[in-house]
Amino acid sequence: LPERQAKPKWLRVKLPTGKKYTELRGLVDKYKLNTICTSGSCPNMGECWGEGTATFMILGNICTRSCGFCGVKTGRPESVDWDEPEKVARSIKIMNIKHAVLTSVDRDDLKDMGSIMWAETVKAVRRMNPETTLETLIPDFQGIEHHIDRIINVAPEVVSHNIETVRRLTREVRIQAKYDRSMGVLKYLKSQGQRRTKSGIMLGLGETREEVIETLHDLKANEVDVVTIGQYLQPSKKHLPVKQFITPDQFDEYKQIGLDLGFRHVESSALVRSSYKAQKHIN
Ligand code: SF4
Ligand code: SF4
Repeated sequence: LPERQAKPKWLRVKLPTGKKYTELRGLVDKYKLNTICTSGSCPNMGECWGEGTATFMILGNICTRSCGFCGVKTGRPESVDWDEPEKVARSIKIMNIKHAVLTSVDRDDLKDMGSIMWAETVKAVRRMNPETTLETLIPDFQGIEHHIDRIINVAPEVVSHNIETVRRLTREVRIQAKYDRSMGVLKYLKSQGQRRTKSGIMLGLGETREEVIETLHDLKANEVDVVTIGQYLQPSKKHLPVKQFITPDQFDEYKQIGLDLGFRHVESSALVRSSYKAQKHIN
């Protein structure tokens, strides 16, 4: 449908600006720092960086999975770089980041699925940046509890895991993932005392309004605190097509439904990405 048409006006993005943005951009270029914000050309850089928030990806740039919506390369991943925790911690220091979001590719090839590197990275960031708060946007670790425990044990302020889409579309959108397994990860986090949990959904992949509402109910039933809802955009022609552009009114309705269900925060609008306004989700 609308993919090759002009995007609706609410999806046209202004180029990031602002003094803080310009300053950080200079540092990122100078020190060749690796943020998802720049590598994914995220539309929210002006805003997030202005507030001192940025997202860093660990465990390499190649994923063992091949989700139909995701622009990350699939294949045999690089070997683990044990200097990575220090490098990420240093980037956060150089950029003077107040709230860092860490995320990773899925490493189904590793025995620990990358969970040890995850924990080491959180510890290194804490050591070098004791004031910086953290969100860890984790993979499902195939639902294996002792891997998830490594994250909980290093106590990030927020742990997020994205459900990404509704139940019916999960097989098509996230081929190696499972809706119930992801819900189970969120439930487990809470059962182990994780204070803030968070999940995200992309819209425009062909889901119905009822299915979105059902997903919100399921997230609530698993005691998730924060939900982000944004428009899916196709990273390339090889990825799943956009079936629908969701209107601002519809995003507003989902936000209201989410708030009525009792989530602490609901970010719902076209350009929302999982780490958008992430700093406020610690509260
Ligand atoms: Fe970076 Fe996430 Fe903000 Fe985009 S939404 S600029 S990826 S922190
Ligand atoms: Fe992308 Fe994550 Fe899926 Fe890997 S598991 S393809 S990084 S969404």
